[in-house]
Amino acid sequence: MRARDLLHPRPEGLYCPPGDFFIDPVRPVARALITHGHSDHARAGHGAVLATGQTLDIMSLRYGQDFAGSTQQAAMGETIRLNGVDVTFHPAGHVLGSAQICVEKDGTRIVASGDYKRQPDSTCLPFEPIRCDVFITEATFGLPVFRHPSDNDEIARLIRSTRQFPERAHLVGAYALGKAQRVVRLIRDAGYDRPIFIHGALAKLCDYYREQGVDLGDLRPATVEDSAKGDFAGAIVVGPPAAFADRWARRFPDPLSCFASGWMRIRQRAKQGGVELPLIISDHSDWDELTRTIVETGAREIWVTHGREEALVRWCELNGIAARALHLVGYEDEGD
Ligand SMILES: [Zn+2]
Repeated sequence: MRARDLLHPRPEGLYCPPGDFFIDPVRPVARALITHGHSDHARAGHGAVLATGQTLDIMSLRYGQDFAGSTQQAAMGETIRLNGVDVTFHPAGHVLGSAQICVEKDGTRIVASGDYKRQPDSTCLPFEPIRCDVFITEATFGLPVFRHPSDNDEIARLIRSTRQFPERAHLVGAYALGKAQRVVRLIRDAGYDRPIFIHGALAKLCDYYREQGVDLGDLRPATVEDSAKGDFAGAIVVGPPAAFADRWARRFPDPLSCFASGWMRIRQRAKQGGVELPLIISDHSDWDELTRTIVETGAREIWVTHGREEALVRWCELNGIAARALHLVGYEDEGD
């Protein structure tokens, strides 16, 4: 079977005609397979949803229990047959519950990786390279200039700063699903055992990570109303990036703005966002991770979904691997 008859792009998202399902559709469809819980991949309103148990839980936390007509849980590695197409989920190392989806029929195997990274992250299962004919990859950081530093080194800079400026509250912007919990876990791994304060928007997901066995230590609500300003002197406060743009943030003592994102590699972005301490911590693959993964899958063809497709397609061609950009729309690569 030709790969493009097994899976091809449609306005709704990647579609599998023989299986009659979509992967991460951006519009409501009858049957959706979902790689992970980020809102640009996991949307409410589908008829039937197949995803890992953790992704289903996360969707239900974010959208309410009736987010889909029906749901089915896929265990990692379990083969599920849909209209004669074999589907298996494998860890993607992106956020809790994140999976690559392997689609196979008549000896043709395609892996749709969703978002993924290769850097170690103790808050989710590590990425597993799957041998396949076609590997579908994102390219959020698909330029050679993107090389993520060690996340431990970035967190060490944050902790050093809290010692250097013990009177200032350190406000760390981090996306609510995945990044926030990873940042807290990294701070704990660095030996920091003081309370960490979190914005209310993170509470539900942090609780869920804890239920799933990710130890986040002493977390407290960052409510300024019932505490003295001084309580937050030298404290680490984690919240969604948007919260730090509003009045909430200005209530903290002499706040020092930090932002944990792969985009902090670009100095201009940090400056424009008024970020004093940029922390380059990404849940996406950098250039080296992307190219290494492509080689490890052994795929003879690469399809690039979104991000900086051109450079990665060019790299594949130079290395004798066929490649094309799918130009999928609806996936924003800002959320890292
Ligand atoms: Zn994602």
